[in-house]
Amino acid sequence: MPIRLIVHGGAWDIPAEQEDAHLRGVTAAVQNTWPMLQKGASALDAVEHAVRILEADPTFDSGRGAFLNSIGEIELDAMIMDGRSLDFGSIAAVQNLLHPVSVARRLMESREFRMLVGSGAQAFAEREGFTQLPPEALLTERELAYFEQIKHDSNFRSHDPFGPLPGDTVGAVAMDQGGNLAAATSTGGTPRKWPGRVGDSPIPGAGAYADNSCGAASTTGWGENIMKVLLAKTVTDWEERGQNAQKAAQKGIQILAEKVKGLGGVITIDAQGQYGWAYNTPKMAYAYWNPETKHTHAAIKLDT
Ligand code: ASP
Repeated sequence: MPIRLIVHGGAWDIPAEQEDAHLRGVTAAVQNTWPMLQKGASALDAVEHAVRILEADPTFDSGRGAFLNSIGEIELDAMIMDGRSLDFGSIAAVQNLLHPVSVARRLMESREFRMLVGSGAQAFAEREGFTQLPPEALLTERELAYFEQIKHDSNFRSHDPFGPLPGDTVGAVAMDQGGNLAAATSTGGTPRKWPGRVGDSPIPGAGAYADNSCGAASTTGWGENIMKVLLAKTVTDWEERGQNAQKAAQKGIQILAEKVKGLGGVITIDAQGQYGWAYNTPKMAYAYWNPETKHTHAAIKLDT
C-alpha cells in the first residue's frame, strides 16, 4: 500500500502575521514524521509522532501554546485511534502535560478504559510516569496577553455561531506500508472556555476516527457543533459509501454548515490512500506528503 501522511494546525481566520509560523509548523510535522513511515513505522506511531511535534510548537493551541480557560488555566484534550481494531484512547481536561496525545495512546494500550477526564486522567498520567510540568511551561506570552484582553470583555463569546473562533487544534492522519490507518487530535480547546468544558477533539467520531476498511479523519473548529454531526465519522462514512477522500471531506463540511451552522475543517485519508481536506473557515493550516512531487505540500488557504 502507499504510505501517506497529512496534518493540520487548526481552521479559523489565522492572522496574516501568524501564517508563516503555521506553515512552518505543519511542514515540520510532516517532514520529521515521513522518514519514520518510510522505514516501516506504523500509522499509529506516525500520527502520535506528528502530533507530538505540533504539541511542542507554541504556534498551536495544544500542549505548549494552548488557550487559557475562563479562570486562567490550561486544560487539554486529546485522542488517538487505531484503524486496525477501532481501538482508541482519549483524555480530557488534563493539565500540565506537554504531550496529551501520548497519554491517550498509553490509555488505549492499557485496554482497561477508553476515556479518562480531569483528575482521573491526571492520576493515570502520573502513574504511567508522564512528566507533569509547571503551568508556566505550557503558557506563552501570546496566550497570556490574549487572556488579559478578553477576560473582562463582555462582548467576547466563547460560542459565537457567526464567526470562527481562534482555534489552532492539531491533528494527523496516516497510512502505513501495511495499509493501516490511524488518526490523532490534540487541543487546548477554545479560548475562555468554562473549566471542565470538553470539545469535540477527544470524542471518537467527532474529533478523530480511523477504520481501515473505509478511512481516517481528524477535525478542527467549533467543537460544540462538530460534536453534533460527529464530523470525523461522517466523513469516513462517506468514504465507506464509496466517495473518495476529497469528496467525503467536502460532504462532511457541507453537513456541518447546513445542519448545525458549524464552522471547521477536516483532513482525511481513505482506504485507497487518497487525501482529502475541506474547511468553511477563512483558512486552515495543513500539510501532507505529496507522493508525486516527493515533497511536503503545506497550505493555509484553498488557493495556495
Ligand atoms: N475543536 C476544538 C474545540 O472545540 C477547537 C479547535 O479545533 O481549534 O475544542
